[in-house]
Amino acid sequence: MSIQFGRKRIDFQLSYSNRKTLSIDVHPDLSVVVTAPTNTEDVAVEQKMHKRASWIVQQQRFFENYLPTIPVRRYVSGESHRYLGRQYRLRVHKGAQESVQMARGQINVCLSDPSNNARIRVMVTQWFRQRAKVIFQELFDAMVLKAERSGISACTFELRRMRNRWGSCTSDGQILLNPDLVIAPKMCIEYVIVHELCHLKEHNHSPGFYRLLQSLMPDWEQRRERLNGCVVE
Ligand SMILES: [Zn+2]
Repeated sequence: MSIQFGRKRIDFQLSYSNRKTLSIDVHPDLSVVVTAPTNTEDVAVEQKMHKRASWIVQQQRFFENYLPTIPVRRYVSGESHRYLGRQYRLRVHKGAQESVQMARGQINVCLSDPSNNARIRVMVTQWFRQRAKVIFQELFDAMVLKAERSGISACTFELRRMRNRWGSCTSDGQILLNPDLVIAPKMCIEYVIVHELCHLKEHNHSPGFYRLLQSLMPDWEQRRERLNGCVVE
């Protein structure tokens, strides 16, 4: 089901239970779930949805850049890890020279003690971080060129791990990108970069912000959806 709120359509799933009041939940994947008392008429549900519509949109905006939990990794041979939207299998080998290499769908880690998971974690994390730096820089430069046409001036970014955000723009204009974002396809990384670049001009998620985002990246919503989906296993 859906309601129209201004120019925005809000889709929602409706279910019934024998509770007394109607509840509306907005989830991190931006879905809206309505639980209504049994026998509630559709028109009453719609009325309630209209009443809460601005709150729902506000909640969805809060979750837009929210980072869902990345599955816990143990850093053992055979475990799968994501990189640029694809799955790679971790292979641990014994060897005198420490190295991390990616080849044919595998991440090959070489170290003297293959049972040292803590060391493997450090090696793999550092390797991903280095890759993130190189790839983000390349995408960042391309996105800055695009953004310059809309009067957004070039700047730099920094890698920073954040617990619940893919990216951030500080009040003094510094863009931060979460190195964990390297798990996502490039199209999603570009979306996060453009989103943060737009914040250099429009600090809040105002209608002006969305107009700017829309003009720079007309398919941003599909990219965001893909991003939200890519960490759910
Ligand atoms: Zn934002």
